[in-house]
Formats: sequence, C-alpha cells, structure tokens
Amino acid sequence: MPRHPRDVLKSVFGYDAFRLQQEAIIERVLNGQDALVIMPTGGGKSLCYQIPALIQPGVAIVVSPLISLMQDQVETLRQLGVRAAFLNSSLTRTEQRVVERQLDGGDLDLLYVAPERLLMPEFLERLDRVQIALLAIDEAHCISQWGHDFRPEYLKVAEVRRRYPQVPCLAVTATADEPTRREILKRLQLASDGLFVTGFDRPNIRYAVTLKSKPKQQLLRFIREEHDGDAGIVYCLSRKSVEETAAWLSEEGIEAIPYHAGLKKSERQENQERFLNEEGLVVVATVAFGMGIDKPNVRFVAHYDVPKSIESYYQETGRAGRDGLPATAWMLYSMADVVMMRKMLEGNGPTTNHQWAQQHKLNAMVGYCETVQCRRGVLLGYFGEPLPEACGNCDTCLEPIETWDGTVAAQKVLSCIYRTGQRFGAGHVIDVLQGRDTDKIRRFGHDRLSTYGIGEDRSKTEWRSVVRQLVAAGYLSVDVDGYGGLRLTNACGPVLKGEESVHLRKDPKPQKKKKASRYTGDLLPTTPAEKALFDHLRDVRLDLAREQGVPPYVIFHDSTLAAMAKHPPKDLGDFAELPGVGEAKLKRYGAVFLEAVLNFDAA
Ligand code: ADP
Ligand code: ZN
Repeated sequence: MPRHPRDVLKSVFGYDAFRLQQEAIIERVLNGQDALVIMPTGGGKSLCYQIPALIQPGVAIVVSPLISLMQDQVETLRQLGVRAAFLNSSLTRTEQRVVERQLDGGDLDLLYVAPERLLMPEFLERLDRVQIALLAIDEAHCISQWGHDFRPEYLKVAEVRRRYPQVPCLAVTATADEPTRREILKRLQLASDGLFVTGFDRPNIRYAVTLKSKPKQQLLRFIREEHDGDAGIVYCLSRKSVEETAAWLSEEGIEAIPYHAGLKKSERQENQERFLNEEGLVVVATVAFGMGIDKPNVRFVAHYDVPKSIESYYQETGRAGRDGLPATAWMLYSMADVVMMRKMLEGNGPTTNHQWAQQHKLNAMVGYCETVQCRRGVLLGYFGEPLPEACGNCDTCLEPIETWDGTVAAQKVLSCIYRTGQRFGAGHVIDVLQGRDTDKIRRFGHDRLSTYGIGEDRSKTEWRSVVRQLVAAGYLSVDVDGYGGLRLTNACGPVLKGEESVHLRKDPKPQKKKKASRYTGDLLPTTPAEKALFDHLRDVRLDLAREQGVPPYVIFHDSTLAAMAKHPPKDLGDFAELPGVGEAKLKRYGAVFLEAVLNFDAA
C-alpha cells in the first residue's frame, strides 16, 4: 500500500491532483488533528477522510445519516478495490455478522455506520477492541439545532467522539452558516483552527431563469434543445403538477417518472432506484426528492415553480453536475406564483417573526429572478461570498439584460391604478392605459379618466412586464382573494412625486438562440464521432452495471467516459492515464473498455 496521499490519489482513485484544500485537510488528519470541512456538494469531501483511512493503520468509522448514500459510497469504494462495508438497518442478521467479523479481524479500511447503530453497547464494545484510524462525520450539520436538518440521534455522535478523544475527528458538510459551524465545533469539541471553508461556488452549473408563459412547452423545449437524453430532476410545488408534468413529458417522448410523498413507499423506492440505475431518466418531483441522491451525472435541475427561498433553491440546484461536468439549473418564474406564495405566508392573524423571515426569503428569491446582474453573483452574495467578477456562465452573463428608465411608465401605471379605484387586475388597467374600447371600460366610465389612452406607446406585453416588475419591487400588491386587484403600497409615494426613479429590465425574447458558455471547455464530447463513441461506452457501462446490480456511475463517471471518447486510448498504458482510472479499475475494466474503443471504428 502506498503511503503518500498523492500516490493513493493516483493509484486508487486515478486522479492526478488534489482539489481546493483537500491536501491540507488530509495532512492535518494524518497529523492526528481534527477538522471541520465545509465544501460545496461535489467538491470532494469524501476523499478527505477516505485517503487518510487508506494510509493510517486501523479502520475509519464514517457516520452517515442516509442508508442509500452509504450503500452508494461503499459500492464506489469496493469498485476501487478498497475494503469498505456498512452497518445499518437494511442488513440481515447474517450480513451484519459478516461485517462484524471483518471489523474484528482488522479486514476493513472504512466502515460506514448509521448514527443509531453507533450507540449500541455491543457495537461500542466492539469498537473498543479495534484500532480506529479516524472518526468521520458526514452531513455534520445534522448535529446542530441551528442547521436546517437537525437530527436528534446525531447528538449521540458527540458521545462517541468523547469516548475516543485521541482519534482524529473529521466533520464534513456542504451547508453550515456561522452559528451552525460554531455549534458543530462546540458539540464535537473540535479546535476552531481546524475549520476549512472552501466557498459555495459551483462553477460548472449554468444558472438560467425564464419567464413562465406556456410552462409545459417551455420545459419540453428546454429538455429537447439543451439536455436531450440526459438525466435530470424537475421540481414542482404540488403533487398534482408532478403527476401531470411527468405524464406529459412521457407522452412527448421524454422518459419521465413521478416522485412525491403521496406515492406508496414501494413506488417511491422503485422510482428512486430507477433514477440511480438508468441513464437519461427524468424525475419529476416535489422537494421530497433529493436527500440521499448523489448521482453524479444529473445534467439538469429544472424548477417548474419558484422555490420558497434561495437556500432551498441552491440546495436543489446543487444536485446537478456533482461530477464537475457542465450542468444547467433552469427555472420558470411567474409573478402569479410568487403572489400566491406571499399570500399563503401572510395567513390571517398578525405577522409573526417566522412569517416575516419567510417573506424576506421569498423577496430575496424574487430579487434573484428579476436581477439584471450576474445570477451567480446574486446567489453567492446572498451567502456572504461576493463574486469578484461576472461569471460568464449564467443567462444574464451570456445574454446581458438591457435596462431602461421606467420611471414615467411606472408613474402611468400607478396613477391609472389609483384612478380606477385600486380594485382591478392588470388586464383591465392595461386596457385603460392603451385606450381600448371594451364593455368593462364603458360600464365603469374609465374612458373618461385622464389616464385613458396615455399608454398607447407600448404593447400589452411591455405593460405586463412593467406591472410585474412593480409588483416584484414591492410598489404594488395583489389581492389574491378577490380578482387579482392591484393596490399601491406605501413605497409608491416617491415615484409618483418624481423623487425616485425606477429601472426596469427589458425581458429577453424567448426564442433567441443561446450562446455557448465558456465553461463547457473541452470536458464533454463535441464532435459527432466523439458523441457516438461516448454513447457506445455508456452502453458498455450500463451492461456491466446491470450484471453486477450497481448504478453505472460507480463503474466509471461520465467524465472518464468522455475522456475516453475524446482521447481514445490505444493500449492499457494510455488507459491507465485516464482520469478516474486507478489500479483496481484498470485491472477490472481496462480490457473491456479498451476493446470497445478499438473495435468501435469498425462497427
Ligand atoms: P462531496 O462529498 O463533496 O459531495 P465527493 O467526495 O463525492 O464530493 O466528490 C465528488 C466527485 O469529485 C467524486 O466523483 C470524486 O471522485 C471527484 N473528485 C474528488 N476529488 C477529486 C480530485 N482531486 N480530482 C478529481 N476528481 C475528484
Ligand atoms: Zn453570471
């Protein structure tokens, strides 16, 4: 067994260089010190404990909250030739005994355990008798009551930590704000100089927001034009729209399955497994879907409705592109959705702090949707991590949004609403502005108002955009109990008096051809020949995965297949140089894939 972290990285995992702060973290653990690692999803947290586990004598104990993730990780490690196992409630007695014997015999480098298992007295007595290399705590935010996913059973982890104070402890998580971090450090008694924060950015994800007009068609076009044949997740707010959207996509020839809490448990499980094990499947889901999904080649996450906060949005979109290859986070935005959510949050009685906070979060989300700045800049700014320059990989960077001085237009809308009595919806207000001849206008005598016909200079679509942006910016509120009547808010005064100007965005035309992002680089196959070989290699991989009953990505990641397609290896020596090919995989799969590559031209 090689002893240097770099050698292990290459020989076991098949990678040439460490990422971000991986090396520093590994060094620290090898020195016997503790660390708390906050790294975005897909950043490479697991390597930080897996490599020390392979170098230090003894077994590394990894606490992980989700059974499906444990199985995935263990399968991935076994494919790499690493001696790994897990203990959780999914095992039979006999299977459990096999693992326990391996543990007793010192035959494991890593043992994944569920937190509740960790505190069983027999298990602890067993641990007392073996040499522990390190204690790793995955999803460490679950130990914090401040965190968004507190799990009481995680508090027990701290007791185990105290039982083995000499064993280095590595806590890792993708999400922890300041108070959560402090709480993790305190509960696990970690020194604060062991905190590693590597930033939130996910540069391979392209963010895009589109105004909702014909949502189903828009979604279909997005998938067909940008992600044909790719695996993806579509999030909807309601179970009903999950069902409808999945059915519609399937009718249109895109294989899609539903997932929501109303389905039978067995059906949910089956759909989740299909998503992991098959290629190119789309899951249409409520937010219930996602925890425990670490499929690395989810190529897109689409939001059919606006999520409630930037926190949930960022967590959901973070499920795209864990493998570091280009991926898309695409969202449909409509003011009507936002108005409904605002209304739901308001409730009846006086506003509580919680409601106020939720409103505030929703407003930040709307701000993200309406921004004319770099979307990534807005997201990272929200998490207190300003982006030094525009990212070049979001819709507003790729197709800059033009703005215009909408002060006069805003004044026209606001006074027209005022004069019509603050009880009509956008449609009627715009009819009055445009000086149309409708029954309603005649009935209410609105053709005699001073604002009648003062908006002939703009189209209906343009006026709708102005109204939407005034609602988003909080100048107007919408009465959703009645007929969507618009009312002025207190914020309007300065605009009407001409003391404050209003800047509006020009909504981009939807059918514009998208510009390619500079991020794409040369990571994915581009030429038809490369694409054909890539698809062929995916088939080979799928057959191998089916034979073994494992998800395809534990055999090779898409990035390895893509490299194989772009730089076809001529012999096993070339093959060994591909990213993601370590010694075990070279031995196990080298010949099969090499043959597939060499024979492909002839086919
Ligand atoms: P996280 O746990 O932070 O979500 P993982 O540890 O699962 O992320 O790593 C994400 C992906 O990146 C994995 O497929 C992993 O093999 C890969 N990876 C991690 N570190 C490196 C590296 N130094 N070079 C290349 N790929 C890496
Ligand atoms: Zn950008």
